[in-house]
Amino acid sequence: MARTDAVVLGAGIVGASIALHLARRGLSVALVDKGGPGEGTSYGNAGVIEANTLLPHPFPTSFGAIMKVALKRATEANYHLAFLPHIAPWLLDYRANSSIERRIRYANLMRPLFANALPEHETLMQEAGATQYLRKEGWLKVYRNKATFEATARERALASEFGLPHDALDRDGALALEPALAPQFVNGIYWKSSASVTNPLAVTRAYVARFTALGGVVLTGDARTLHRANGRWRVETDEGPVDSREAVVALGPWATDLLKPMDIDLPLEVKRGYHLHFRPRGNAGLTRPVVDADLGYCVAPMEQGLRLTTGAEFADRDAPPTPVQFDRLLPQARALFPLGEQVEAQPWMGSRPCFADSMPVIGRAPGKTDLWLCYGHAHWGLTLGPVTGRLIAEMITNATPFCDPAPYAAERFTR
Ligand SMILES: Cc1cc2nc3c(=O)[nH]c(=O)nc-3n(C[C@H](O)[C@H](O)[C@H](O)COP(=O)(O)OP(=O)(O)OC[C@H]3O[C@@H](n4cnc5c(N)ncnc54)[C@H](O)[C@@H]3O)c2cc1C
Repeated sequence: MARTDAVVLGAGIVGASIALHLARRGLSVALVDKGGPGEGTSYGNAGVIEANTLLPHPFPTSFGAIMKVALKRATEANYHLAFLPHIAPWLLDYRANSSIERRIRYANLMRPLFANALPEHETLMQEAGATQYLRKEGWLKVYRNKATFEATARERALASEFGLPHDALDRDGALALEPALAPQFVNGIYWKSSASVTNPLAVTRAYVARFTALGGVVLTGDARTLHRANGRWRVETDEGPVDSREAVVALGPWATDLLKPMDIDLPLEVKRGYHLHFRPRGNAGLTRPVVDADLGYCVAPMEQGLRLTTGAEFADRDAPPTPVQFDRLLPQARALFPLGEQVEAQPWMGSRPCFADSMPVIGRAPGKTDLWLCYGHAHWGLTLGPVTGRLIAEMITNATPFCDPAPYAAERFTR
């Protein structure tokens, strides 16, 4: 029987970062996953460390935008009709959180995390020998319509208030940054304080390798076996049971599988997303991830090729993939980006773990002893993995947290 100070359940970017932070603070830690580290949602994202995030994605308000989604013509979103009754209460809550006042509140509450996201990644990358994956070139959003660009005025003003460096560009300015784009747009915004990685899987694996170098152990097991035994947490693994004083749930979109049977029923839903890789056309390429803002997808240069990631699909996490958004957007994406031959036949699919207020849960599980929650990182799990890993490690070790964790507590749903 292995005995550790802490067991971290889930070895995505969030769990790997937590395990590494705990090991750095001298705790004995087991990191348990049902599969390989980094092979869940953290495998397939767009690789953007979105330090510039201020306002979360809003629920569409215009009749035209809603109808486009409803009629399944939108490039940025898709849904499964049979799933709508299930997700309707969450969507209503999401819409309530889309008022500009709530979104500005979000910007203020989340700023400590986003402001520290890149420095925390850099610290771990340096320690883990993973700096070769980091590209400090910001990211670029391009706008096909003047109106959608002008609608960002509030966000840009807020960014200036927060001191976030960004350039509002005309078409030529954006083309100077990314000459391989076709001039299919009118404006761009260059978010300079963000960064990106060329291989999200390799980054998670590097953090896990650093964790094991510090004495941590990685085990294969099913987190749903977690239970109390002799006053400690016990989880069954292929290498036998592990008993721990503390247990940390970092299961991303799968957290509910463990927590609901334990009567910890927090309102998590998923926004599914897909990616496909393309070889660059000829010598053309991109220097940084580029978002086609009007159509709601991103193309990011990765080691595997140009990775095209889609927006949100509202469907059961485990329902078979329905990557119809590619059919809707590929003609326009091919016209804008230098996308050559498609690399794989089938798209990858992942599920962003999302609460309706777009904030993760970070902190102690309500009413439980030594059970910690760190999941629900939505569109920003790669960005926030290391910084939330640090925060929860500080809470677990009774150190002074670098920021006030109260806004991220699970009790915001149970009060
Ligand atoms: C298309 C797309 C693009 C994205 N782009 C970005 C981006 O550019 N920047 C950004 O910051 N974020 C982005 N995200 C979001 C980001 O990828 C996620 O927020 C993040 O990966 C969540 O990490 P996680 O560690 O919480 O979850 P995961 O990576 O899913 O890790 C959870 C782990 O739990 C394990 N697990 C599940 N069930 C069990 C069980 N029963 N027992 C044991 N282990 C179990 C899984 O195997 C998995 O390894 C994107 C997401 C998608 C889908």
